Amino acid sequence: MSVRPYRDIHRRQSRQIHVGNVPVGGDAPITVQSMTNTDCEDVQGTVEQIKRLEDAGCDIVRVSCPSEESTQALAQIVPQVDIPIVADIHFHYKRAIEAAQAGASCLRINPGNIGSRARVQEVVKAAKDYGCSMRIGVNAGSLERDILEKYGEPCPDAMVESALTHARILEEEDFYEFKISCKASDVFLAVAAYMQLADACDYPLHIGITEAGGQRSGTIKSSIGLGNLLWAGIGDTVRVSLSCDPVEEIKVGYEILKSLGLRHRGVNVVSCPSCARQQFDVIETVRTLEERLEHISTPLTVSVIGCVVNGPGEATLTDVGFTGGGRGTHQVYVNGLPSHRLKDEDIVDHLVKQVEAKAAEIEAQKDTQRKAEAEDTASAGPAAAE
Ligand code: SF4
Repeated sequence: MSVRPYRDIHRRQSRQIHVGNVPVGGDAPITVQSMTNTDCEDVQGTVEQIKRLEDAGCDIVRVSCPSEESTQALAQIVPQVDIPIVADIHFHYKRAIEAAQAGASCLRINPGNIGSRARVQEVVKAAKDYGCSMRIGVNAGSLERDILEKYGEPCPDAMVESALTHARILEEEDFYEFKISCKASDVFLAVAAYMQLADACDYPLHIGITEAGGQRSGTIKSSIGLGNLLWAGIGDTVRVSLSCDPVEEIKVGYEILKSLGLRHRGVNVVSCPSCARQQFDVIETVRTLEERLEHISTPLTVSVIGCVVNGPGEATLTDVGFTGGGRGTHQVYVNGLPSHRLKDEDIVDHLVKQVEAKAAEIEAQKDTQRKAEAEDTASAGPAAAE
């Protein structure tokens, strides 16, 4: 029995696959991914964008490969980046084979859409030869004609039937290293389809609300859709689709996972909306602080609360806490306990220093723990290491 059972999420049991060196499914952490929007043939621009995504915490990145030139460019991009690349193929089986040869870690392709069985066999062979997994990507907006005729309109049954039909084609070729997505821009449809698919198979699921919109509306739709699924234990890798800089997709993906306690990266800020009781400018302080703390990847929580009404209570649950106090004397908390007061110093500068020090302390503890574990394994001898 956990200490706070109301926070427990029971994750769906899925099989585990690998996208390069990143495990997806099973008990692997839920990964966050995005997609480049540069021209793939622009090698330098694409590598730079992938590097920015890596810095933001992206685990897996997808790159469109619509032409032979783009798969040639992919061969130059792969060695320059550190995260695995999913080559987005869609229809042309030759692009899939080229992408596998170019070093893609995963192929996004629907085997039912590439023509003959012989072509599927060639793609599967390339995937096996080059260690690629695949992603079957069903989209409500592009369902196969026969399925649409059968169901009349995109609906959960139609999407699941499409996904399982593609899956069966790969199973017939003895290929099981794939994940499935079942996306729709309509939150109800996407969630219902994923729930049904989650019951119908044990493949890992890539979840997302497709074409979700701009930064604000897309974030809200994705949070509702992905939030529902993740809360129900469904989803092994997430992509938030936003019409904006892909780095924002990563940030939103992490925020969704952080809200549900499923993954932690960087600073989780707890702040009040502020009101007439505030003892400093909460909104401006939080805005600047979040910007200044973007470089911290260590998971920790910081509270920034305008006054003593809620400040001390919130601070007890944080690594670093800050509560506005009367006559310009504010209270700083560390590890949930009152630490010191702050009067004339700049609030943001002071909190950044406190958070950086706390992050360094946590990282040093982790290092010590890792070294101790490595020494334990070494001293236990080869039998224990097996
Ligand atoms: S914590 Fe204080 S300043 Fe913040 S909203 Fe509540 S009463 Fe207002």
